[in-house]
Amino acid sequence: MTVYKAVIMGGGPSGHSAAVRIAELGGKVALIERDFIGGICTNWGCTPSKSMIESAKVARTVAESGKYGVKVKDFAIDFPAVAKRRDQVITNTREFITKLLEHHNIDIFYGEGEIQAPNKMLVRLGKLDPDGETMHYTGETIDLEAENIIISTGSKPLIPAFIDKSDPSIVSSNRLISIDHLPEELTIVGGGVIGLEFATIFSNLGSKVTIVEFLDRVLALMDEDISAEITRILEQRGIRILTSYKCLSIEKGLMKAEDMKTGNVNEINAPMTLVAIGRAAVIHEETYNNLGLKFTRKGVEVDDYQRTSVPGIWAVGDATGRSILAHVGIQQGIVAAENIMKKDGEPLREMDYEVIPAVIYTFPEIVGVGTVPQDLTGVQIVKVPFDINLRAGIEDYPEGFLKMWIKDQKVLAAQAIGHNVSEIMQEVANMIALKTNIEDVADIIHAHPTFGEIIRSALDYALEKAVDFYI
Ligand SMILES: Cc1cc2nc3c(=O)[nH]c(=O)nc-3n(C[C@H](O)[C@H](O)[C@H](O)COP(=O)(O)OP(=O)(O)OC[C@H]3O[C@@H](n4cnc5c(N)ncnc54)[C@H](O)[C@@H]3O)c2cc1C
Repeated sequence: MTVYKAVIMGGGPSGHSAAVRIAELGGKVALIERDFIGGICTNWGCTPSKSMIESAKVARTVAESGKYGVKVKDFAIDFPAVAKRRDQVITNTREFITKLLEHHNIDIFYGEGEIQAPNKMLVRLGKLDPDGETMHYTGETIDLEAENIIISTGSKPLIPAFIDKSDPSIVSSNRLISIDHLPEELTIVGGGVIGLEFATIFSNLGSKVTIVEFLDRVLALMDEDISAEITRILEQRGIRILTSYKCLSIEKGLMKAEDMKTGNVNEINAPMTLVAIGRAAVIHEETYNNLGLKFTRKGVEVDDYQRTSVPGIWAVGDATGRSILAHVGIQQGIVAAENIMKKDGEPLREMDYEVIPAVIYTFPEIVGVGTVPQDLTGVQIVKVPFDINLRAGIEDYPEGFLKMWIKDQKVLAAQAIGHNVSEIMQEVANMIALKTNIEDVADIIHAHPTFGEIIRSALDYALEKAVDFYI
């Protein structure tokens, strides 16, 4: 029987990155997946959502083509074609990752893993139902032995107890992302990242969208200026946003929600409702209790080296509750892999959570990176609007701004809202991570005209030497 260097439970981004890195370093790996290779990210999350956002973006561009001097008559959304393209992108990505795993001679087992001991895993072969809850077992089981086990079981949508999951009008992000028809109306409970991205997709493809948010603003974890700007833009485009609204019940396509400012209970039409109030780590409670493995409701407890409380068992990705971003899970997977494969006497590699770029793929996009300081003593705040950026003017995307928090010539944090800002903000992330002096970057020639020039503009402005604009 093969004794694996590691058996990995869950084939999402964190699990498959760990698998590949261990294999690259010479370890033999088994990976268990109860659904599809690629996990939530490839099959129900990042990939399908960004594929549909691309269709929504094209729809928007065509709708606004007149302003660029291009007349398009009578265009229509062919939603089954949007869905077909989305499914093809998923298949391509899944096949790519599967080939990558095969290239590294990683043994893949399709079924549900159950940790029996720190070096033993039982696999019940089978496949998860698309509802994300029910397993269909073949009846066959396999025992695997390993020096290490990595838990990378991911997360699932959080649905409050008062919501009837069997009501067909209520959908989780998994169900909505695989829909094959366009809902005429969509009500979204939760004005966070997932809620706003779905609002962007469906409103641009033609659905009437309402967002119901408990807090007093959407994207409450971002700077208030960002929340205000995206609210203004989305409302201008016809999305109804109800903040300080508490959803009390949803029944037969009707939501009752309390307007917490007035105390009134209002009825909201909700023929289809997405519940997007957060995600919960997938925890196999009974098994972990038997193993004495520490976990909370947020996730499996890990230290900064990805070790759990049980020697030989590691955990990475959403299952740890440290973040629900694929790129954080990938990094955790790499860190765990390198720690498993480290030679005697070598130090453990530590996870660094200080600089995590987070993107919200609305139109326009939003990015946050670094930690906005609570104590603003000695902090310079610079806010530069996109309407001073030549490329934004040429392409007619003047909305949004870049805001930076700078102290002692170093950027502490930055948040931006603007066209494709996800593609320019890594420069700022690198500056924060490398603690670069702002003058060093401001003095580097930036290509003209580019959206990225706004970073140099903001740094120049902070240094009181802006030459391309005034505020
Ligand atoms: C709609 C949506 C959009 C998103 N967009 C983005 C984005 O643009 N960028 C970004 O960074 N993040 C995004 N995310 C978050 C991202 O998908 C997750 O952070 C990422 O998938 C986490 O990776 P993971 O490997 O930890 O877990 P997952 O991707 O959840 O994978 C875990 C896998 O483990 C399997 N599993 C669980 N238990 C067992 C078991 N006992 N045996 C075998 N297999 C098991 C599951 O079937 C699953 O495939 C999005 C999420 C959603 C829902």
